[in-house]
Amino acid sequence: MAYKSVNPYNNEMFNEYENATPKEIEAALQQASDLARRWEDDDLTQRSQMLHKIANQLRSQKMAMAEIMTREMGKLIGESEEEVMLCANIADYFADHAEKFLQPTKLETTDAEAIVLKQPLGPIMACEPWNYPLYQVMRIFAPNFMVGNPVILKHASIVPGSARKIAQIFEDAGAPEGSLLNLFLDYDQIAEIIADSRVTAVALTGSDRGGKEVAKVAGAHLKKSTLELGGNDAFIVLDDVDKELLYQVAPGARLSNSGQACTASKRFIVPDTLYDEFLEQMISAFEAVKMGDPMQAETTLAPLSSKKAKEKLQKQVDEAVASGATVAYGNQPVDLPGQFFMPTILTNVTPENPVFDQELFGPVAQIYRVHSEEEAIELANHSQYGLGSVVMSGDPHHAQKVARQIKAGMTFINHEWTSLPELPFGGIKNSGYGRELSKLGMLAFVNEHLIYTAETN
Ligand code: NAP
Repeated sequence: MAYKSVNPYNNEMFNEYENATPKEIEAALQQASDLARRWEDDDLTQRSQMLHKIANQLRSQKMAMAEIMTREMGKLIGESEEEVMLCANIADYFADHAEKFLQPTKLETTDAEAIVLKQPLGPIMACEPWNYPLYQVMRIFAPNFMVGNPVILKHASIVPGSARKIAQIFEDAGAPEGSLLNLFLDYDQIAEIIADSRVTAVALTGSDRGGKEVAKVAGAHLKKSTLELGGNDAFIVLDDVDKELLYQVAPGARLSNSGQACTASKRFIVPDTLYDEFLEQMISAFEAVKMGDPMQAETTLAPLSSKKAKEKLQKQVDEAVASGATVAYGNQPVDLPGQFFMPTILTNVTPENPVFDQELFGPVAQIYRVHSEEEAIELANHSQYGLGSVVMSGDPHHAQKVARQIKAGMTFINHEWTSLPELPFGGIKNSGYGRELSKLGMLAFVNEHLIYTAETN
């Protein structure tokens, strides 16, 4: 069975799940389609009230939701709790703002009245990754619940218990059956669902490999898609930086969620004048982490999500070193049974190094020395990806001038990457297309329906 719950802290497998049968898939498709039709005539107030109930249910089941996420993919329990609270806020945000965001737009035109309605498209297929098991689902579920698009969920195969728990919480809140249909599916079953005429669109958050495959199927069936993919985000330090703030922000920008965040800062680009001091500060912050049981509050660095994730990262680091990178800190075995990866700092990564343009999904920082701002910007943009970025400067205007030149979907100034319901999330280049969250995310899967009424007298 492909769907298994394995605790990466102690390698214990504590559950496994059968894939959905063809009969279950057919029933889910029909249920989603029937609900979409019913929602066309519903008024938004009811769904807004229900989404607030879901938010409250998440808050009241915070610990149970947090614990299953930590047990299945290893993140620190505190990070899991924060994730649940953020997701409750996302639900409240869309419940409160949907009416405004979905207002028809009146167009200026001659001799006619023209409006654009924002109508639901219908059931959506969502393929989601394990790194934020609840948040990834909420980013797609909450706005589409308000739009009136039921969501068929295929969660990552290593977090099936989290997927079940999410569906159960929504059910406990009283959400109509079919609002979120969690199915354990293989890739062929997903392709069949995308091809089905009752499904109107597909959203995938994950790797560029997964994104390309799913987008190919969506394209073959002319289904709209959004892709939220990986990144190797730059963290640019300008020479007028506030150093105290810099050393507060930089380590966490790489290490939170054990470095397994799409928009974590992965490449630190530092002026020559600050380089040695910055490296020293990063080494002491990395030395200070405490690896251990992610359920314990004193642990500050959790294991990676799985054996497979650890093996992949180790292979990339080995390749980087074999191709000339220097290990400034870390890359030693960790004497714990779980899937721990020692926080590691690589320097001297040249453009010829195979990892130069890869995503390192774990606690591995690359630090680069540059001699001018132009060189920093050029290096930041020398990437197949374009997801997020950070610019650190004592002068916000200076930072904004640099930020505008970064080819990415998001830039955070004097702050580590973050996500809030009102901020659009997404990237360009191989980091994907489309946006989630905010008004932009809410309008990803609506029919912008023009109604043109000619003047007759
Ligand atoms: P992944 O392998 O692409 O998987 C993501 C999801 O898609 C999983 O549910 C996976 O199922 C499914 N999937 C993969 N290939 C598929 C295919 N050919 N057909 C149908 N479904 C498919 O990604 P991952 O390695 O689990 O997640 C980490 C990646 O996600 C990183 O690259 C990270 O940067 C990216 N990410 C991006 C964002 C963003 O918003 N831009 C946010 C978080 C993470 P299985 O689990 O069954 O393989």
